[in-house]
Amino acid sequence: MMDHIVNKSLLNATCKASDDAIAVLNPATDEVVAYIPSTSTQEILSLIAQSKVAQQAWQEKSAAERCAILRRWYDLVIENSDDLARIMTLEQGKPLAEAKGEVLYGASFIQWFAEEGKRTYGDTIPAPTSNKRLVTIKQPVGVAAAITPWNFPIAMITRKAAPALAAGCSFIVKPANQTPLSAYAMAELAYQAGLPKALLVVVNNHSSVAVGDIFCSHDDIKKLSFTGSTQVGSQLIKQCAETIKRTSMELGGNAPFIVFDDADIDEAVKGAIASKFRNAGQTCVCANRFYVQDGVYDQFVKKFTKAVSELKVGNGLEAGVNIGPLIDIKAKESVLGYINRAVEQGANIAFGGRSLDGLFVEPTILTEVTQQMDIVQTELFGPIAPVVRFKDDQELVSKANDTIYGLASYFYTSSLHRAFNIAEKLEFGMVGINEGIISNEVAPFGGVKQSGFGREGAKEGIEEYLNVKYLCFGGF
Ligand code: NAP
Repeated sequence: MMDHIVNKSLLNATCKASDDAIAVLNPATDEVVAYIPSTSTQEILSLIAQSKVAQQAWQEKSAAERCAILRRWYDLVIENSDDLARIMTLEQGKPLAEAKGEVLYGASFIQWFAEEGKRTYGDTIPAPTSNKRLVTIKQPVGVAAAITPWNFPIAMITRKAAPALAAGCSFIVKPANQTPLSAYAMAELAYQAGLPKALLVVVNNHSSVAVGDIFCSHDDIKKLSFTGSTQVGSQLIKQCAETIKRTSMELGGNAPFIVFDDADIDEAVKGAIASKFRNAGQTCVCANRFYVQDGVYDQFVKKFTKAVSELKVGNGLEAGVNIGPLIDIKAKESVLGYINRAVEQGANIAFGGRSLDGLFVEPTILTEVTQQMDIVQTELFGPIAPVVRFKDDQELVSKANDTIYGLASYFYTSSLHRAFNIAEKLEFGMVGINEGIISNEVAPFGGVKQSGFGREGAKEGIEEYLNVKYLCFGGF
């Protein structure tokens, strides 16, 4: 499987099978792709100490010097994008074209933040008395740590590592044990670009709890950025309270996808397919529940069903595949459980609904779904589209906001007045208006409510890794 990887140095971190090694599985075939060593807790402590020393030298460099290394890293990622995409598909399952898309999307954060590092401006503040001069400067927080999930094995790392490094921090990351190969391959390219190894450290251990304990309690780690489930995020916030650590939390979502009577239905169907079925529905911003207004409900369901019936399910390495496997058997069982429970509660399967061999599930559309059903309140993380009917804007807003989550939301309308009105009323960090794909490096990505806090990408993204220092000059 790895024979097709042209640049073998991307696999430098892999090791031979042993009792202690972590096996990485291909979810499409259940075969072992590679092994990686488990980093012992002693090694992690030593790496944090080295990272602290390296950070102090790194912050002394000019932003332009840091930019030059990050730009070389970006160039190497682009040069190796085919290999990186293949590694990602092998360990994560997403179709190769999507994996390539993620590599480029992940790389865009490196390019963007390489430049943003030059713009970490402070302020000069008019003083309230004439004998003082007031200034602020921005400084790196120090050693930053991150814990990232399996669904975007590269982008969830570069969205954090690039701003951290550009700001002058060092960065230590624990990727999900299911998808570590992409993380190690990216780090290898950073080293080849000239980044000292102690500035970008990747660790894995059989126990993610043990790594989390070290990251949260260690005094030399000044910041923890987490992307993952709300449940684990909440636990990590509690653990970080002990050392009063700065945190950013990119957590779960329950995105509504809304289609109003005045929408362009063909565009809405296109957006729905892109938003719902990317990564087999395993994304935090993916449409989780559909609200379609009475007047266009039947028309939307008919066109949506036709589009879904054309999606090809299979191994992501095969040409033409749109939907890969789910990440593991637990994920598959949970997705099938949601479908069964919704049917028991009165939903109708308009398309799909069946389990396929291995970790594959048919893309599924459920109609006659109501707000009371469990499926509307749960983050599904699978290729299921429950469709709820609504009558008017007021009812829609109250249903869409009826969730603990507040990450992404989407709606389709041709009315400018409605677009502004609904966008203002939706309690979500991001709103796609007549658009199903909203994330990019220049816009602030993040949530409200139990979807977390902090922003990634955009000018806001680098602030997560900077402290503001206020200087008061007296005696004028
Ligand atoms: P998860 O269980 O929370 O795991 C995420 C990461 O946390 C993995 O690296 C995992 O390690 C680690 N982890 C798990 N328990 C831990 C603990 N007690 N202490 C320290 N680390 C721990 O989430 P997931 O199910 O893998 O990922 C899907 C979730 O991520 C969804 O809820 C999704 O919405 C969310 N997500 C959010 C965003 C966003 O930007 N808002 C983006 C992508 C995904 P191991 O896997 O190695 O055990």
